[in-house]
Amino acid sequence: MTRLTPEQFGIVVRELALMLDAGEGDEFWRVMTMFAQGRFNRQLTEFPAHLQRAFAAAGRRRRKDYTVLLAELPQDAGFNLVTIGNLECDGKSFPLVKLVSLPPASPFATQIPICLTAGIHGDEPDGVLAAHEFARRFARSPALTQSYALTIYPCLNPVGYERLTRENGSGKDLNREFGRASAEPEVRLIEAELRTQTWTGFINAHSDYESFGLYAYAAGPIISERLAKPALFQASGIIPINTDPVIDGHPAELGIINQKFDGSLGPLSKSDPEPFDITLETPNLFALHKRVEAQATAIETILHEYRAVASEGMYL
Ligand SMILES: [Zn+2]
Repeated sequence: MTRLTPEQFGIVVRELALMLDAGEGDEFWRVMTMFAQGRFNRQLTEFPAHLQRAFAAAGRRRRKDYTVLLAELPQDAGFNLVTIGNLECDGKSFPLVKLVSLPPASPFATQIPICLTAGIHGDEPDGVLAAHEFARRFARSPALTQSYALTIYPCLNPVGYERLTRENGSGKDLNREFGRASAEPEVRLIEAELRTQTWTGFINAHSDYESFGLYAYAAGPIISERLAKPALFQASGIIPINTDPVIDGHPAELGIINQKFDGSLGPLSKSDPEPFDITLETPNLFALHKRVEAQATAIETILHEYRAVASEGMYL
């Protein structure tokens, strides 16, 4: 059970009201459902009456539409949309897609290859929407478009996305299946795709219901100090950083965990030097639009900071 202090619970109440006001009905429902399931030390009856009524009115089940999400991808603005394969589930077909930034105008220009993945957990819309938002910010920034060849996998678990579940259609946590000869169709498609590509940087967009602030997984001192730390700092203007000494069961320092989960998604082909690999986590208990803003800001900061690191010839 996750414990919230009275002050934190007050903030959660405020954030849930913000979600309702912003039309974030699915996230309002999902967070309230976690309280109804007893995952926190607070009961539904402790919420203000208007939030309890809104939750009762939201019904017992919610479904999202992946087709609607795909239609919202910024396809015309600086990216090509490419289908990497199709998933079949319950008689429906789900195209897995990537956004690939346009090649440079000059053949003499060099661009640093970066990969951004989101939505491997279907109940984490923060990353999915932040990937959309960051694509728009990227396309508007000459400094970024000139420096980077960006590939975005905006929603890697479409069945989980539609069902608002962490797992895929067959009940598997996909982020424990990589590098393990998994039979899950999503993992096979993503591995076949990533095996052929070399990246300088790899960013995973996630979200966490137990944490009361932002944090990141980032291995290696320069990656944590020069990329993850400024990214969290910039985003902390929107949502505070989780400064607990232990986060998600791992030792952490200033919101940074210096390790990675076995079986989690990451770069498959090894470049030299090894690519930087950062996983960003935003807390579920804050309004969705704030999480999206915080996460897009963190991603943007990582890429701006990496330009400075690269220009110093720094070896990660
Ligand atoms: Zn996740």
